[in-house]
Amino acid sequence: MNSDRSDHGTPRVGQVKEVTSLTNPIVKDIRALAQKKHRDETRSFMAEGLKLVIDALDLGWKIKTLVYAKAAKGKPQVGQVAAKAVARGGLVLEVSEKVISTITRRDNPQMVVGIFEQRYQPLKDIRPGEGETYVALDRVRDPGNLGTIIRTADAAGASGIILVGETTDPFSLETVRATMGSVFAMPVARASAEDFLRWQRSAGVQVVATHLSGSVDYRTIDYRSKPVVLLMGNEQAGLPAELAREAGALARIPQAGRADSLNLAIATGIMLFEARRHLLSLDAP
Ligand code: SAM
Repeated sequence: MNSDRSDHGTPRVGQVKEVTSLTNPIVKDIRALAQKKHRDETRSFMAEGLKLVIDALDLGWKIKTLVYAKAAKGKPQVGQVAAKAVARGGLVLEVSEKVISTITRRDNPQMVVGIFEQRYQPLKDIRPGEGETYVALDRVRDPGNLGTIIRTADAAGASGIILVGETTDPFSLETVRATMGSVFAMPVARASAEDFLRWQRSAGVQVVATHLSGSVDYRTIDYRSKPVVLLMGNEQAGLPAELAREAGALARIPQAGRADSLNLAIATGIMLFEARRHLLSLDAP
């Protein structure tokens, strides 16, 4: 692939630019995506790996910048992805391995990195239908938990995630890594607790809240009669009374042993696969 510069020596959008300097302003800008403030201001985030970038483009996510290491230049798939990024108005950077290491903050970096535009689904647009399951997370704090939940929700065939209150950023590098690509497949909405309660009253859903003092065994709940929203509590504080109060059921996963509670992502996984058990089959396409 040829490097291409304008007469003024600056790259034009939609063309390939070679970068080897760690102090290059575009590289600095991408590195700044490690900070939430910068992600919020630019509404961007970073995803690592060729497969992820291919999937994201296939799913119609808007790519702002594609970065690939010089060593990956000859790979046909990298060339195809670069051509696609250019065609969609993205900037394409061919960089040294040192630069890609700096961007990803890893010693053994992926050879391809994409910078994408963030996307949230407006809560008001979520109108759950028959057989659909959503996961609502109250003030989830841990990026690894959130990423794992997004990945698990995707695997269980859920339709989306609703982040309630102040939560960790679904577009942080740590969360995106933990999603293993499912960040591109799983719609994410966000809402205040009040907005969520208002929405749940009119959405025609059955909200199953999980609580350590829940009185209902999660295996005895009817998950078939309405679309289900599984409401999960914060890692430290659990679910607040104002959210628990309005739920259709307060479910508990029976535990043995000495552990006080299950990890949030594990509890969410157990709930998801139980709620969708009747819809999941090894014979499904
Ligand atoms: N100290 C917190 C409490 O008292 O609720 C523990 C919260 S737990 C780590 C995080 C969330 O996972 C809980 O709010 C609940 O949604 C879910 N959870 C964990 N273990 C559970 C169980 N055995 N039954 C139902 N939900 C559980």
